[in-house]
Amino acid sequence: MILYDCHMHTDYSDDSTEKMEEQVKGSIEKGLKGICITDHMDYEFPDSEKYNLKFEYDIDRNYREIDDLRTIYKDIEIMKGVEIGLRNEPGTAERTTARYKELLKRSDIDFVIGSTHCLEYCDPYRAEYWQGRTVKEGLRTFFLATLENIRANDYVDSIGHLDYAARYARRSSTQRGVFDGRDDYIEGDNADVVDEILRFIVGHGIALEINSAGLKYGLGYAHPRGWILKRYKELGGEMITVGADAHKRIHIAYGFDEVAKILSDCGFKYYTVFRGRKPHMYHID
Ligand SMILES: [Zn+2]
Ligand SMILES: [Zn+2]
Repeated sequence: MILYDCHMHTDYSDDSTEKMEEQVKGSIEKGLKGICITDHMDYEFPDSEKYNLKFEYDIDRNYREIDDLRTIYKDIEIMKGVEIGLRNEPGTAERTTARYKELLKRSDIDFVIGSTHCLEYCDPYRAEYWQGRTVKEGLRTFFLATLENIRANDYVDSIGHLDYAARYARRSSTQRGVFDGRDDYIEGDNADVVDEILRFIVGHGIALEINSAGLKYGLGYAHPRGWILKRYKELGGEMITVGADAHKRIHIAYGFDEVAKILSDCGFKYYTVFRGRKPHMYHID
């Protein structure tokens, strides 16, 4: 069993309307021992006005609310996290990294997830990212951006949903972009770049996240897919953080039984929870 869900959003994130208290109540209902609130901080999010998605919030207020909830709900550990959106576009990369480093100077943070949500000023969620690209090409560009991002932001605790772009590849490539005869991304595609990312995080003590949102979206796999988890293990990686990326109460700890099985099948006996930016290992029972 996995008893900590360390990736969830609340209405401090522009893509969630769930109150933090609801997320806490839902987590207790699921029988979790602990959670980490990781709202979106995505500085310079592209087209933020067009889509009304700014992804910046008042972290002081967020953490004060966590303090208040801790006094009410004593049976669950509520940790203070943040999911930061890493960028590699020239100029944007330097500016956002500087701002994240400033933000993370505070001493009360438990956990920092570093995620790549945007590249080329576009979220691969949008069909335009896939225009003129095959699934393999689109993912390669995404992984290369992720590699640049993690090299420039090696202070993060865990790398979020490493193959995030795959979530949107199928729909976009078959319906709107170039279809290369595949209906999904193939295990082992772009393994050279993925290997570089994994070697880097293993060498720098950065954890790899398993994010069950892929199961929620009906992809049939969690992020990242099993071959990446296995490769991380082969390269000496031991730290796996676990999150359902719930934007709604009903999705807390989504698919965690399956996640436990995936991790066991990949050879992991433990998962990792960050507390005060330090890793703690928990047995997958
Ligand atoms: Zn994310
Ligand atoms: Zn998230």
